[in-house]
Amino acid sequence: MSPAPPGLTVAADRVQADLESLAALVEPGLPGWTRTALGPVDRQARELVRRWMSDAGLETSVDGAGNIFGRLRGTGSGRALMVGSHTDTVLGGGRFDGIVGVVGALEAVRALREAGVRLEHDLVVVDFFHEEPNEFGLSCVGSRAMVGAISAAHLDLRDERDRSLAAALAAVDVDPSALLGARHDFARVDAFVELHIEQGPYLEEHGSQIGLVESITGISRFRALFSGQADHAGTAPMDRRRDAGCAAAGTVLAVERIAGEGMQTRGTSGQLTFTPAAVNVVTAHAEFRGELRGPEEEWLRSAQDALTAAAHDEGSRRGVDVEVDWLPLQEPTAMSDGVVSVLGDVVDGLGLSSTRLFSGAEHDAALIARAVPTGMLFVPSRDGRSHCPEEWTDLNDVVAGVTALTHALLALDRRGPTR
Ligand SMILES: [Zn+2]
Repeated sequence: MSPAPPGLTVAADRVQADLESLAALVEPGLPGWTRTALGPVDRQARELVRRWMSDAGLETSVDGAGNIFGRLRGTGSGRALMVGSHTDTVLGGGRFDGIVGVVGALEAVRALREAGVRLEHDLVVVDFFHEEPNEFGLSCVGSRAMVGAISAAHLDLRDERDRSLAAALAAVDVDPSALLGARHDFARVDAFVELHIEQGPYLEEHGSQIGLVESITGISRFRALFSGQADHAGTAPMDRRRDAGCAAAGTVLAVERIAGEGMQTRGTSGQLTFTPAAVNVVTAHAEFRGELRGPEEEWLRSAQDALTAAAHDEGSRRGVDVEVDWLPLQEPTAMSDGVVSVLGDVVDGLGLSSTRLFSGAEHDAALIARAVPTGMLFVPSRDGRSHCPEEWTDLNDVVAGVTALTHALLALDRRGPTR
């Protein structure tokens, strides 16, 4: 690797100011730093990011899926490197998840321009629309659209109020039909890199400044419906009830049991509802959503079968009808060996300590990796906390990540095609 140009410096104060500006754009009256993609404030944040891109000298555009792009022309014939993350948050989320990757990509552009470095590649900074899962059970909406992994069936997913995802998108000015047509042409993109907080305790526990992601978890999400019979809580004998709530509760525990059998496997249940929601009525209908995660597709498929069987078992013991609907399985995704080794060399060259790891969180990078050689850089999360207001990464750690990202773009540019 040729040495980096002198004067290539990441400005910590700019990174901090950008993080604080985005942290100020939150939905009123909600916990943490809430800025959900389908909520009322996310558009302002994305407009701000677009303005920052312009100010940094990038040509900006928005695609049909609401993804925001900023392109810095290189000296070559239009081959590109892509870099970015997302700026939406979960309900009650933090100030760093996704945001560090967008702010970091912008700062990389500023640092390169200030050092007078012209890349041969175009540099395309992306703020992906709607990475976090919504009440329809769908995540990575923008990056999914870019790789053609979204369909009309997704847009017809319903929330509890029977509103469609298409209607929810239209309400935030994302045209559902334009979203379906937002497939991106990646033929001239040589690599994608995403900087992100780890969201787990591994880096902190190992004393590492940077995580080099080798693969991203597979995810399988489902909706489970239980139909029994409403009865009087005082008079209906226990052995004659068709209690949908109890069947659902047994299935929630089955998620925990099945996922608890592996070291890196995870299972979570949420959005549980009982109907009628009354203390003195046996539950007639219950519904919940859940998910399984793990690094191996084979385990995910067998865990799906085990959970479906467990749900039917819980139902049949109680005379409760059961339906388990699985969304399409998101396969575990390996990062590109070529990109990961460039990232590793850059991090070593900068004298930063690093660890290779597996990401239990999903990322836009998992979708983009279907089309482009992809790598991810992680920075530590204090106490491993994320998706909560306590989510925190020290500025020094963020700056180390942004520095690694900046130098990685330089190295990837000089390395040529990674395909
Ligand atoms: Zn994220």
